[in-house]
Amino acid sequence: MLNWLPSSLDVFVIGGGPAGLATAIAARRRGLSVAVADGAIPPIDKPCGEGLMPDGLDALRELGITIPAEDVFPFRGIRFVSGGKKAEAVFSQGPAYGIRRTALHRILIEHAASCGVSMLWHTPISGLHSEGVLVAGKRVPARWIVGADGSSSRVRPWAGLDRHEKKNLRFGFRRHYRVAPWTDFMELHWGDCQSHACQIYVTPVSREEVCLALISSNPQMRLDAALAQFPGLAARLQHAEHASSERGAITVSRQLRRVYRGRTVLVGDASGGVDAITGEGLCLAFRQAALLADCLGGGNLARYQAGHRRLIHRPALMARLMLRMGKHERLRRRTMQVFESSPRLFAGMLAMHVGDGSARDYIANGISMGWRLLTA
Ligand SMILES: Cc1cc2nc3c(=O)[nH]c(=O)nc-3n(C[C@H](O)[C@H](O)[C@H](O)COP(=O)(O)OP(=O)(O)OC[C@H]3O[C@@H](n4cnc5c(N)ncnc54)[C@H](O)[C@@H]3O)c2cc1C
Repeated sequence: MLNWLPSSLDVFVIGGGPAGLATAIAARRRGLSVAVADGAIPPIDKPCGEGLMPDGLDALRELGITIPAEDVFPFRGIRFVSGGKKAEAVFSQGPAYGIRRTALHRILIEHAASCGVSMLWHTPISGLHSEGVLVAGKRVPARWIVGADGSSSRVRPWAGLDRHEKKNLRFGFRRHYRVAPWTDFMELHWGDCQSHACQIYVTPVSREEVCLALISSNPQMRLDAALAQFPGLAARLQHAEHASSERGAITVSRQLRRVYRGRTVLVGDASGGVDAITGEGLCLAFRQAALLADCLGGGNLARYQAGHRRLIHRPALMARLMLRMGKHERLRRRTMQVFESSPRLFAGMLAMHVGDGSARDYIANGISMGWRLLTA
């Protein structure tokens, strides 16, 4: 099974999700020989809100990947819905995409294959050794080992990288509904389910399907029970068939002390992450992948560590703000009031969220937002 791998590999990537495939593609573009192994069989359907933000699309383009129009449903902005109020803002850089995870996975695999990445599916990695990885009990040597094995990464403890500065865990459940999208916005519905703050976000993913993702700190909470707290949304879905079964995953906000040790380095959710509410997990993974390939090419993982911290900073800040808004009903009410009465402020916050605009814009917007919250 393994004799077709190049005899001296530059990079072995553990995990063939978005982060692993994007890293493999970026490393091949730098001329490195790369293999990816994943325990699952493609296309992998990980529970996800399936929103690919404009900055994520830019990050993909920088990796040479464009997403075919037939695989997506473009949406122009974000709408918050809370306590009978609505506020919306449009992305200034053009639309975001709703895309099924299986479609995204297929596109990334096709691209990886065309770049010459060797891919091993149904091949869980069982450990590391001093020169590489253990694949089905056999030693495969590689100069660099990349752990892209998701938020419950095993590579992380194997490499002694499990120490973190912050960690917050929530639970996500997603299901698809066969119904024509009623809007070209991604909707984020805020509420409380059985006294836990919860959010449901709705992403249009095709002309006849929407994806619902529920996120809360209650592991028992499921979509049907949560929808009872959102009657407007429940009414829209009342007659819609389920187009997929409900599947759950954890979402973790985590900042690791270190993301590499020796020849082993982490990327994507394995390397830390931000709460799913931000919709920024994929973008972050693609940006980290490009940076990592660059640093592997130059053999400088200290630069990756520093850049990784910079990349996660803004999404982590936005995640903290959004989680606070989720938890505190009064703050949420005031924020909705401000956004409803001042759409420009919401547009400014959204631009900051997806990394559009200068530091000056962010500061000015932050000050106006703070002032309006105090005086609303
Ligand atoms: C409910 C929910 C909603 C979300 N919504 C959005 C959204 O709308 N937009 C967005 O951008 N992000 C969203 N995210 C975040 C996004 O899903 C993740 O950031 C993204 O999947 C990270 O990709 P990854 O490749 O790092 O990890 P994963 O996608 O988890 O991939 C890891 C891969 O590693 C493989 N693997 C694990 N262990 C091994 C092993 N020992 N050997 C071999 N292979 C292994 C797994 O099979 C898997 O394929 C959401 C997350 C959740 C939970």
